[in-house]
This record gives sequence, structure tokens and C-alpha cells, in this order.
Amino acid sequence: MKKRIFTYLLILCTALFCLGGCAEKSREGDNGPAPSPERKGVSTSNTGFFFDTVVTLRLYDARDGLMDEIMSACGRYEALLSKTVEGSDVWRINHADGQPVQVSEETWQILQSAKHFYEISDGAFSITLAPVIALWGFTDGSERMPTDEERLTALALVDDSQLKLEGDRMVSLPAGMSIDLGGIAKGYIADKIAEMSEGNVSGAVLNFGGNVYVVGLKPDGSEYRIGIRDPQGTENDSKAILTVHDTSVVTSGIYERYFIKDGVWYHHILDPKTGMPAENELMSATIVSKSSMEADAMATICIVLGAERAQEILKAQGFDAVLLTKDNQSIVTDAFPYQIHFVQ
Ligand code: ADP
Ligand code: MG
Repeated sequence: MKKRIFTYLLILCTALFCLGGCAEKSREGDNGPAPSPERKGVSTSNTGFFFDTVVTLRLYDARDGLMDEIMSACGRYEALLSKTVEGSDVWRINHADGQPVQVSEETWQILQSAKHFYEISDGAFSITLAPVIALWGFTDGSERMPTDEERLTALALVDDSQLKLEGDRMVSLPAGMSIDLGGIAKGYIADKIAEMSEGNVSGAVLNFGGNVYVVGLKPDGSEYRIGIRDPQGTENDSKAILTVHDTSVVTSGIYERYFIKDGVWYHHILDPKTGMPAENELMSATIVSKSSMEADAMATICIVLGAERAQEILKAQGFDAVLLTKDNQSIVTDAFPYQIHFVQ
């Protein structure tokens, strides 16, 4: 947990550095939207801990009260989507013993999207992995590894096609099964907070752990520079810098939450076919998309599928991405439409 908080503080520092220190490097002849007439350079920032993640928000020229509204929206989303908060939509689905449960519009939208990504990824993205995820000690600091028997027993409960979404936002799941929205919910929340910001700020950097959303432009009218961490380096090192506006940049990496046991690296993105951490050449996947929710699911899918299949699915689904491999290769999808600068 400490490590995760540290990672996010680091991402915050990188973002602040870019906001404060990189203005002189901004692109000439920027094609971004025209500077907002209300731009006065008044900046407000806030940090919270939601969704097991340090959330950092920076708003420029925000309408009065917006920051408070955003912070309370984060609290509301946590109360709806957390697996552990008693009475949340996810908690009610997981404790319904096979009975249908009516969920909020927000949860409904995420579940529909999760189903879609389960289908297009041939099961690589699977929210019913929850019973397997719960066996691994990535988040509680226990560094626990399931026995083969525990893992195989839990794997028998993994099957998103058993999650039924019926009329009137009724959701049902066979008794014993459970869901975990850790691979998609932060993206949905980032989208919603970006929507709340649009038209009410001249710019914003919304950082939900691996999900960053930038709105509008920086106070000097330039685009944002978002670093993609170099997985081979320290937490301060960027492999590449993206120059973007009004979009989400989402990274999933095998260095985000992990432990090392007997010399083996175990990380938190699991292959639903085995219940073990996905094992292939990828270290990280960064997706750039207007939909942070879709980017969140796609980043997780890429890590599960590995470089070759990830590239196929990114192309088929029309996503722009940067994949970094264990042997220090960078793969950028064809016709990548954003400015990208490799640091080394
Ligand atoms: P992060 O949470 O670090 O931003 P991801 O978006 O890749 O990273 O989500 C990882 C989380 O998603 C895990 O902590 C777990 O809760 C869940 N998860 C792990 N493997 C999968 C998978 N194959 N499909 C869907 N969700 C997964
Ligand atoms: Mg994800």
C-alpha cells in the first residue's frame, strides 16, 4: 500500500513538474482549442484517497464550489462501486446469494461496458475474477500467494457470461460468484469528473492513479505533457512524454502492485484462464482515449494478452496505445495521432 501511495505521489509530482516546468517547451502552432476567455490562471488543487488510490486534482479557473462537488462525487462513487463498502452496489451484488439486485445507473453503465470488454477480449478482461483476486495478497500487504488447490477452486467461479443484466437495471450473479471492478471503475469515475469539469474550468489535470484525464489547456494556453513511466528505471523516470489536451491517458503496469517471492515477480493483473499473474513480454500498456473507462479496460486487456495479441485487438477496436516491453522495446500503434517524445 505504501508503495502504491508513493507511486501516485510521484505521478502527481511528475504532473506538477510538467504543469509548472515545461511551458517553454510547448508546441508551436498548437492545434488545440482556443484559449478560454475566462483564463485568469487561478489554480486550485486537492488530494484525496479513494478507490484504494491517491487521487490528485488540479483545476484552473474553476467555478466556485466545483472542487467540493468533485470531492463529494468521488465519495459517492466509492460508496457505489467499492467491493468492501457494505451496502455498495457491488457489495449487494456479491452478497445477493443468486437473487437479482437493482443497481444505480452508474453501476449499470460500468457493468455493460465490462461485459463488452469481456466479450471482445475473449475473456481476458473478467470482473468475475474477484474470488481469485481475493486470494492474492497484493493490496493488503500480506504478499499472500494462493495454493494451487485454492486457485483452481476459485477459478471455477470465474465466468462473466453468468453475470446477467436484465431490464430495469436488475443484476444477478450465481451464489458464490463475485465481481471486482478494479480494472474499469477508476476510468468511469475519471470520465465523470472530467464531464463535471468541462465548461467549468479553463483547464484541469485529474489523476486517479493510473488514469489521468486532462481537460482544456494549461494556464499559458499550451497542451499538457504527460509522462509514461520507464518501467526499467526508477519511479522518477519517464520513457516518453505525450503532449495532449482533452483526453485521458491510462497506464496499466506490472510494477504497480506486486511482490517478489523466491525470486519470482508476482503482479496484480491476472490471466483469467489461469488465475496467475499474466506472463508475457509486456511491462506496461498506455492507452490514449477520450473514454477513460474504455482505456482502463483496454490497458488491462493488453497486459493480459501480451504484445502481439494486444496490437491486434487495439487495431481492431481502434485504440491508440504505447506498449513497453521487458526487453526495453517501445511499440506505438499505427498512425498514432498524438505528439510523443521518447526520453532516451
Ligand atoms: P490499476 O488498478 O493499477 O490501475 P488496472 O486498471 O490494470 O490497474 O486494474 C488492475 C485491477 O483490476 C486489479 O487490482 C484487480 O482488481 C483487477 N483485475 C486484475 N486482473 C484483471 C482481469 N484480467 N480482468 C479484469 N480485472 C482484473
Ligand atoms: Mg484497467
